[in-house]
Amino acid sequence: MANIEITLGTGNEHKVFEINTIVKSLGYDNIKFVQAPKGFNPIENGTTFEENSLIKAREGAKLSGMISLADDSGLCIDALNGAPGLYSARYAGTQDAKIERVLRELKGKEDRTAKFVCCMTLVDKDGNVIHVTKGECKGHIVYERKGTHGFGYDPIFMPDGYDITIAEMSEEGKNSISHRGKALEKMLSFIKDNVL
Ligand code: IMP
Repeated sequence: MANIEITLGTGNEHKVFEINTIVKSLGYDNIKFVQAPKGFNPIENGTTFEENSLIKAREGAKLSGMISLADDSGLCIDALNGAPGLYSARYAGTQDAKIERVLRELKGKEDRTAKFVCCMTLVDKDGNVIHVTKGECKGHIVYERKGTHGFGYDPIFMPDGYDITIAEMSEEGKNSISHRGKALEKMLSFIKDNVL
């Protein structure tokens, strides 16, 4: 089977690492994701995860001249009407402050259910949409942060069926249940059958 390199429309190095780890663990040795070239700075002004993933994928294709994949993801908390949602990356100045804000806003609320959502869009080198996938990871927000792995809101999110936060899981453990892992698995299967 042919080898393929796909631009990943992100400025987040951890995401590139996480995605390539999932790709390898699923045995897709001939698919490699490379970070978008320097200058990647799209204006994420979409109104949905899907729109923002398309904006980032198109920016990746424009800069690299290659087929490009991007994801947009976030944490949606039921008692906060879906916040931080699309604004997950911008909910406060630092990651610590974002976590503090969520814990503060949930104070006194009984319902702590939440989900991580991920939408992935694959575009060709001219920015035309090839395929879109989605993944979700349901769980709840714990009362205080636990664990040091992962990134973002991982220390305060406990997935359904577990009694540890995502930040207490191994990389492989997280990837097997995460919103990004699920969206990527569907995307890789599509790429294998339709693009390679
Ligand atoms: P984006 O998809 O890079 O725009 O991510 C938006 C924000 O959602 C990130 O900056 C994180 O704060 C949060 N987020 C997305 N995925 C995860 C995850 O797997 N764990 C924890 N936080 C996440």
